[in-house]
Amino acid sequence: MLPKPTELRVAVLYPTLLNIYADRGNIDFLRRRCEWRGIGYTLVPVGVGDSLEAGTFDFVYIGGGQDRDQVRCGEDLQGHKAELLGDWIGQGKPLLAVCGGYQLLGEAYTGPDLSIPGIGAIDARTTQGDRRLIGPIAIRTNLGGPTDGVLAGFENHAGRTVLGGKTPPLGTVLTGHGNDGSSGQEGFRHGASLGTYLHGPLLPKNWWLADWLIAESLGLAVAELAQLDDSLERAAHRVARSVAGAEWADAPAF
Ligand code: GLN
Repeated sequence: MLPKPTELRVAVLYPTLLNIYADRGNIDFLRRRCEWRGIGYTLVPVGVGDSLEAGTFDFVYIGGGQDRDQVRCGEDLQGHKAELLGDWIGQGKPLLAVCGGYQLLGEAYTGPDLSIPGIGAIDARTTQGDRRLIGPIAIRTNLGGPTDGVLAGFENHAGRTVLGGKTPPLGTVLTGHGNDGSSGQEGFRHGASLGTYLHGPLLPKNWWLADWLIAESLGLAVAELAQLDDSLERAAHRVARSVAGAEWADAPAF
């Protein structure tokens, strides 16, 4: 039997440019949940002009950002990074892209004064709307877990993302706007590659998704990860659900 992996290597794309609404909290949360379990954690920051090398990471994270910062990232992604990420996502390997980062994985993000190239790794196109879609949001995914797949967070985007037939959504909107405010779809999912409009940051408010991503990245089942005391995390999820108007009936008293 192969020894269990003891280290999670996280490639974070554009950590300074794409880090809006405390999205960095997602990375800190992953690190803490690894460290609490004695799993090593290595951050591989990849900025504009840096190379992304195959074999140096197990998980890819891309956060959200402002339109003007997305322009630089969208241009920088073209070429080698686009090829590598296209392959990675094509194989459904572990990745989380939030908001602006999610938009960059599609064909393009365009608007009256905006033309940001995407990498075409997913069948999605984003156009800029004339009003921002803002507020608390809850969605239902089919990832299971202790909240029956429900994730809660907060969204703030001008972009409207429409998925083509080749890329399924991450979930359906319970409350809030989602991909485009009308389709009822939220995010995308291909295997363990996920994109979403949920900020929050997402993972501290949806602790079990962090464990799902850690397990997928290490090639383990979630049940193989050491159990942690999740009372605070469950309370954070309960509050996020309540704010979004999608109460969590199983919420523990805290
Ligand atoms: N700039 C993009 C938009 O407004 C993404 C925003 C974000 O990442 N929150 O749609």
